[in-house]
Amino acid sequence: MPVPPAASEELQVGRLQSAVPLARYTAARLGGPADWLYSARESSEELVAALHHAQEREMPFRALGGGANVLIADEGLRGLVLINRVQQMAFGDGWLRASAGSGLMALARQCQARGLAGLEWAVSVPGTLGGAVINNAGAHGGDVAGMLLETKLLEADGTLRTLTAADLGGEYRNTRLKRRATRDWLVLEATLALQPDDPARIATRMAAFNVARKRSQPPGASLGSIFRNPPGDFAGRLIEASGLKGVRCGAAQVSTLHANFFINPGEASADDYRRLVLLVQEGVLREQGVQLEPEIELLGASW
Ligand SMILES: Cc1cc2nc3c(=O)[nH]c(=O)nc-3n(C[C@H](O)[C@H](O)[C@H](O)COP(=O)(O)OP(=O)(O)OC[C@H]3O[C@@H](n4cnc5c(N)ncnc54)[C@H](O)[C@@H]3O)c2cc1C
Repeated sequence: MPVPPAASEELQVGRLQSAVPLARYTAARLGGPADWLYSARESSEELVAALHHAQEREMPFRALGGGANVLIADEGLRGLVLINRVQQMAFGDGWLRASAGSGLMALARQCQARGLAGLEWAVSVPGTLGGAVINNAGAHGGDVAGMLLETKLLEADGTLRTLTAADLGGEYRNTRLKRRATRDWLVLEATLALQPDDPARIATRMAAFNVARKRSQPPGASLGSIFRNPPGDFAGRLIEASGLKGVRCGAAQVSTLHANFFINPGEASADDYRRLVLLVQEGVLREQGVQLEPEIELLGASW
């Protein structure tokens, strides 16, 4: 058991818990315990306090949004895990500014209701705005980098930095933030550019995206696409062509509907899932000569 940190005046102490299983905070429903977990719901000040709390005690720190792009090891995570559920949104003429903990799907629906176009692609992308900025989330031809006006970052030394889309260096499901070696910083908020449009037309586009997704993507606990699509090809096609559709490691299974989705039917371990990623990666390299690169992040272990 970790040594309990001294009660902090900054944090709402009731929300600081020890030895909390992280599986319930991830989309794949996988992951062992966090030494300490703080669930922030009310204000950005809570996020700042949680980061200070970890720094004062020299604890490792990791923020999570929706846990939709992370595979957390069965051993869990040491130090303090901050679950960011702070949802504050403001909408203007052609823009939205929202806290990093705001749900991406909820933001897309709010934009639609206000007649603001541009975020339709996010209508069925799970997770938070913060995770989407870090990953440069995108779908149906749109992505965060293509509409980011600015994002605010709290650095480990307390400096508040404003990054533009150019600073973020958004590529396909990757950014300079995602590649950073340390995690003692926070995305606090982001401002996105939008265009006025008829709410009914926006709703029609969103409905079409939803239909396409329901047709092509499997239900059940997963992390969405496991591998980035290599240039000019699709990871799912390569996995299928390698005869790996439906293959299992332990209880984790390559989806029979979309081969780039790996499903946890309920009883898989994170290690089953990790081994499945490696098995598929090796199989595709062997059969197709293509080295697939994981889009998901593995936390608390190495591949
Ligand atoms: C069914 C399904 C479908 C999906 N479809 C798509 C899709 O179409 N397109 C797509 O791009 N992605 C897709 N994804 C992946 C996922 O939805 C995105 O990557 C999403 O942006 C992750 O956001 P999150 O809040 O869940 O991030 P998390 O998984 O919680 O975190 C991702 C990374 O960001 C860090 N992080 C999160 N918030 C903060 C913060 N405030 N400050 C500092 N660090 C932070 C975490 O430490 C971690 O390193 C899908 C996932 C699932 C499960």
